[in-house]
Amino acid sequence: MTATTADTAPAPPATSLPRWSETPPPVDDTSSEQMLVLCDGDDGAGDHWLRDLRARGIEPLQVRVRAPRVTTPALLRPGADRGLTGLPQLRRMLDTATVGLRLLVTGTEWQVLTVIAAALEAGMLRSEIRAVATAPGISGDAVPLIVFCAHCEAETLSPAATPGTTVRCAGCARLLDIHPHVNSSQARYLGSDATAGALT
Ligand SMILES: [Zn+2]
Repeated sequence: MTATTADTAPAPPATSLPRWSETPPPVDDTSSEQMLVLCDGDDGAGDHWLRDLRARGIEPLQVRVRAPRVTTPALLRPGADRGLTGLPQLRRMLDTATVGLRLLVTGTEWQVLTVIAAALEAGMLRSEIRAVATAPGISGDAVPLIVFCAHCEAETLSPAATPGTTVRCAGCARLLDIHPHVNSSQARYLGSDATAGALT
């Protein structure tokens, strides 16, 4: 046996930021039960998937997810579906969905992550979900994202933030470091007191 590349492969980056393919992943046409979720910020993946499915004779269920526009960091109320129109309807559809359903999700990252979390909560498997996101945190650009405060447990939706920078917690007003770490089941970035340790 010779040394395998498994031993010499570069270590993965020390972040857990979601990575998205540049192009929409191919549809999974092993099932005719398809649901297409179009969130804010979709830049064409939805149309691409729709054409692809229809070319295969499949008409997907379609759900639109929309958020109120925020211009300053806003507090998200627990249990209120993050203010997303369409998400309660989607949850009801997922609860009554048949086995074999395939989910396609596209739009801005925080909404796509929220939809994926809802789908997993409803019992779907990751392998049944195809997703692509715009405005991802990994881009290094200022994007809308949700920061979870490790101190007061509030969720702050910032309209324009970058992992590695700071945001003011809308719950307790602490200045939070936005860590490059996403809790995928909660679809949010981790934030902790930016001044902790600064006085030592
Ligand atoms: Zn807080």
